[in-house]
Amino acid sequence: MTVSESSSDVAVEAVTKEHRTVRGLTGLVTQADEREQMTIEEPYTGDPIGAIPLCDAADVDLAVERAREAQQAWAERAPAERAEVLTRFRKLVLDRREKLMDIVQLETGKARRTAFEEIQVVAMTAGYYSHRAEQFLASEKRKGAIPGATETRVHHHPVGVAGLITPWNFPFELALSDALPALLAGNAVVINPAEQTSHVALYGKRLLEEAGLPADLFQVVTGHGPTIGEPLIKAVDYVGFTGSTATGRIVAEQAGKHLKKASLELGGKNPAIVFEDADFDRAIPGLINGAYSNTGQLCISIERIYVHESRYEEFVDRFVAATEDVELGATYDFGPDVGSLVSKEQLEKVVAHVADAKSRGATVHTGGEARPDVGPYFYEPTVLTDVELDMDLCCEETFGPVVAIYPFSDTEEAIAKANDTDYGLNGSVWTEDAEFGREVAQQIRAGTVNVNDAYGPTYASIDAPMGGMKDSGIGRRHGREGILKYTEAQTVAVQKGQGMAPPDGVPFWLYAKLTTGALRLMDKIPGLR
Ligand code: ADP
Repeated sequence: MTVSESSSDVAVEAVTKEHRTVRGLTGLVTQADEREQMTIEEPYTGDPIGAIPLCDAADVDLAVERAREAQQAWAERAPAERAEVLTRFRKLVLDRREKLMDIVQLETGKARRTAFEEIQVVAMTAGYYSHRAEQFLASEKRKGAIPGATETRVHHHPVGVAGLITPWNFPFELALSDALPALLAGNAVVINPAEQTSHVALYGKRLLEEAGLPADLFQVVTGHGPTIGEPLIKAVDYVGFTGSTATGRIVAEQAGKHLKKASLELGGKNPAIVFEDADFDRAIPGLINGAYSNTGQLCISIERIYVHESRYEEFVDRFVAATEDVELGATYDFGPDVGSLVSKEQLEKVVAHVADAKSRGATVHTGGEARPDVGPYFYEPTVLTDVELDMDLCCEETFGPVVAIYPFSDTEEAIAKANDTDYGLNGSVWTEDAEFGREVAQQIRAGTVNVNDAYGPTYASIDAPMGGMKDSGIGRRHGREGILKYTEAQTVAVQKGQGMAPPDGVPFWLYAKLTTGALRLMDKIPGLR
């Protein structure tokens, strides 16, 4: 097999809604024609929409090699110059939003409104980091070892090549939002997107290059994660993974084996607590969105709702009625609230969770059925009660439009139940007392907790870190943490005059005595510490 020249200049033209196909979206450093092809289907219909080459380890190595070469010159550019590319990219994303939403919907089967959220978050992320990169990446003065004599500074160097393994549920957002800070920090990026959503990653590459990103700096390697995941992890300097906890463990093991820095954003079984004083006019629509947005295929979506017993029945009745009003649909417009599940496998998992819960005594209040009349992988928004610990649906992530409601009698019990999970990604608290809400939120062991909303406020606060506690992950995206993780901190200290050793002629016992005295003085003068 020979690997061809980069084909990123091959004409890219794109998605046509009328014909529902993705054509000619290339950009791979591989001889795509020589690779086995995998057909990608439109979840709305099951019809083929395009094909991707299944790259192998040699393709990965070539992509990383090219990326590494391009990274040298990129890292020499000033952060402000790199930021200009992101500013242009942001504009292109907004200008091309219709085409982007078409491709996202075509590959995922999600509702268009959720596809728009991806555009929104990528634009916000590009805007945020392009304004802040200079500040975050600037070298910083730190307190020196000997006040006045040691000048210590910390520099933030790019790690080199970041390898990102990205999922199908928010394919544009999760591929690009993590790539943008990595690029701004002076790195190259090589992405292995989930097979089903490779075209949107390729379209992202095209937009970045149109915005002025040097060729080869952003590479997309399509193919199966289990085949090319490890070669990618081995070849890059940093691994960013978003996906299930099960696959995250494999990626973490491989990152450990090859001693690569890594961050992982994994699954969730996210709780909401609805207190007695909550405003149901806000809580019901907020949690409907929290449970069913992206057909529930959202790591931060709400799968468990705990409601104070005094208003439990009222909540269940209103939530079930609101669920029945949710509009399902397979259209490329903003009409439907909820779209399809992404695939047959995902549908089977949701069906199995609900069947298991039903067979063990759970009550299905509404939904609980697949909807082949709408599309092959559609499933009705579903509300359950009487869900017990022995049911798969109770503790495992369902990743579908399915939510269980439970009563609680006091705050302590609600917090304990919310925390009774191996996951710790997101949480939601509903109360009219914001101070109380904040106190409860801090007792939930999750990386983000929203008071009087489900997930939007924390996720869209791009200035604040986002990620998982416990089995929901390692590391954070967004904010200062989200860019500095793609850098190596280097401390450089310039020592003036006498260093950290006894001056000539001073015996060590005297040096030790004087130093001990100085250390004691530091305790008395806080400014010296
Ligand atoms: P799901 O099961 O919902 O598809 P995964 O966590 O398996 O979620 O997938 C997330 C990403 O991880 C996808 O891009 C997938 O291709 C990739 N992946 C799957 N298995 C592996 C693996 N063994 N090594 C590296 N990446 C993998």
